[in-house]
Amino acid sequence: MVLHRALPGGHYDRDVPDCLFCGIAAGDVPATKVLVSERTIAFRDISPQAPTHVLVIPREHFPDVASLAGANDGLLDELIGQAHRVAVAEGIDGNGYRIVFNTGLEAGQTVAHAHAHVLGGRRMTWPPG
Ligand code: AMP
Ligand code: ZN
Repeated sequence: MVLHRALPGGHYDRDVPDCLFCGIAAGDVPATKVLVSERTIAFRDISPQAPTHVLVIPREHFPDVASLAGANDGLLDELIGQAHRVAVAEGIDGNGYRIVFNTGLEAGQTVAHAHAHVLGGRRMTWPPG
């Protein structure tokens, strides 16, 4: 698989031009950003499932969280740290929030670029649907 790298300068490898979140990382696709770092971007989900629903992505393309974990260079740590900072910025850290990585078909992953959902602002149910 060819990896699609979205870099801070807005340049990216167009070998995988159809990755929606690489498009957001490159600034080609509009998104409502809430927090950015050198290697990550957090933006509001277009179809929110809770009062706060933010996605946190690495700028660099990884198909899912498992491949991101495999890179083992601290990027997944940074992503989770940013997810927590989003929760603080949104004021949901006190009451609690959920971080979700849908991974693969049966989990309902629809965008093949690793992303953490940060959900909160309402009482969550368990088990998830
Ligand atoms: P998943 O189903 O876990 O792969 O999550 C993909 C998420 O991306 C869904 O919650 C979608 O609502 C969201 N999404 C799809 N397109 C966009 C977009 N253009 N901007 C923001 N969020 C999006
Ligand atoms: Zn991508």
